[in-house]
Amino acid sequence: MKRTDYITWDEYFMGVAKLSGMRSKDPSTQVGACIVSQDNKILSMGYNGFPIGCSDDEFPWDKKGEEEDTKYPYVTHSELNAILNYRGGSLAGAKLYVSLFPCNECAKAIIQSGIREIIYECDKYADTPAVRASKRMLDAAGVSYRQYESAGRNVTIEL
Ligand SMILES: [Zn+2]
Repeated sequence: MKRTDYITWDEYFMGVAKLSGMRSKDPSTQVGACIVSQDNKILSMGYNGFPIGCSDDEFPWDKKGEEEDTKYPYVTHSELNAILNYRGGSLAGAKLYVSLFPCNECAKAIIQSGIREIIYECDKYADTPAVRASKRMLDAAGVSYRQYESAGRNVTIEL
């Protein structure tokens, strides 16, 4: 008899996305993304952080203040990092697992890269203009999205 307590594909890829998010140095929000081919091969991963060469110790992580003294102009979101980290060619037809619903800027990159499905965990900014604009573009482009349904499984990994 085969084992029956193995994790599902959705749990596997959302787990990888969330593990990737744990690499982020952002003190308030850790978001992770995992891009997967249609036949369930992991293609790329990403988390929110500053571009290469922009030091986590020198650039600001603040959320308030003059715009250029906050993290917002500098941080690259996990979805965009995952897309840019991919070195294999086309992402056409791929799926994106992400722990937070993509903003409008990431939605543009998702659409343009050819990703066709988004599986997201949290949508806590659903009422913001950025997420409303994101959904408007995704709907127009025919990119589908669905919320990840957690079965409440807890996985412990000793690292
Ligand atoms: Zn974004």
